[in-house]
Amino acid sequence: MTTPAGTVRAATLLAPRRLEVREYPYPTSLEPGAVLLRMLASGICGTDKHTYRGETEQYLVPAPNLACGRCHMCARGFPYYLCPNIENYGNSTTAGVPPHLFGGWSEYLYLKPGTAVFRVPDELPDDVAVLTEIFAVTHSLERAAALPGPAGFRPGDAVAIIGAGPLGLAHAIKASLMGAGQVLVLDPSSKRRALAARVADAVAIAPGDGATAELRERCHGEGVDVVVNATGFPGAFAQSTAIVRDGGTIIEVGAFVDMGDEAFNPAVICGRSLTLLGVGGEDLRCYEGTLAPMARHHRRIPFEEIVSHRFAIEDAPVAMTTALDADVSVKVLIVPGSRPADAVRTLSS
Ligand SMILES: [Zn+2]
Repeated sequence: MTTPAGTVRAATLLAPRRLEVREYPYPTSLEPGAVLLRMLASGICGTDKHTYRGETEQYLVPAPNLACGRCHMCARGFPYYLCPNIENYGNSTTAGVPPHLFGGWSEYLYLKPGTAVFRVPDELPDDVAVLTEIFAVTHSLERAAALPGPAGFRPGDAVAIIGAGPLGLAHAIKASLMGAGQVLVLDPSSKRRALAARVADAVAIAPGDGATAELRERCHGEGVDVVVNATGFPGAFAQSTAIVRDGGTIIEVGAFVDMGDEAFNPAVICGRSLTLLGVGGEDLRCYEGTLAPMARHHRRIPFEEIVSHRFAIEDAPVAMTTALDADVSVKVLIVPGSRPADAVRTLSS
């Protein structure tokens, strides 16, 4: 994969909306415990899109997060994003510092000592394995299942997902696998709604004036048991409270980046006895339990349909533009081995 000159090509974000392919030296010596990973594919995630638009600041494309494991927050089992000493391949590293290769849209990715790595089951295709991190976030539903009743998730429950992007679709599939009685998906894109119906056997509904009434009607007029808000945009939380039943649970999983305020009345949470669960990402302990079910179900569930486009590293700017168009794309991959301008569009219309 390296050129004869021993360089590694990597898409590098220089400033908001300025993505360039640069060449870096192939690392000839690794510090003890480091790993040089040859990249087969890397996805563009929601945080990447926020970063590209300048809504949050990173220096590179992100990869796994490295919590310290020693601080007061880590010791009590809190998630990585609450560790004050966190190292994150997107936020605390920069391509300006050797060995430069801290991003996934590259021929090689340099993993610092202590980075957790997981073996992908042999039978799992690359297009499914690349979705592992986003599926690991669906441990949110296991956390909801562990809540004491009448809150939380139980088999047979109606689960509504707001937003049928990759994170929402992963939650729809997971809810179905966990025995949801109904999986209902709200998304303005007809293509994404059709995809939700195919991959998660979901009832997909366009948001709008009649959506809340239709959702309630499908759930004995009471509303859904669990709402997963997977959009990240202000306004969706109000929608969540409108469609959840009294005593139900809202999982806020989309607003990892601060996209602005949304007014809500705390009396809604209190008076209706709602439970609010915030989940800001995956957990290292979730990976094994994510890879195994993906390997087990990948022949029956078309996970790979979530991947809508593949681009070469050279086409990273086009890849990002494509990823930002929610009506055209779902999960967009950077595939270092592919030829430039060789985008393969698989999302059916
Ligand atoms: Zn820590």
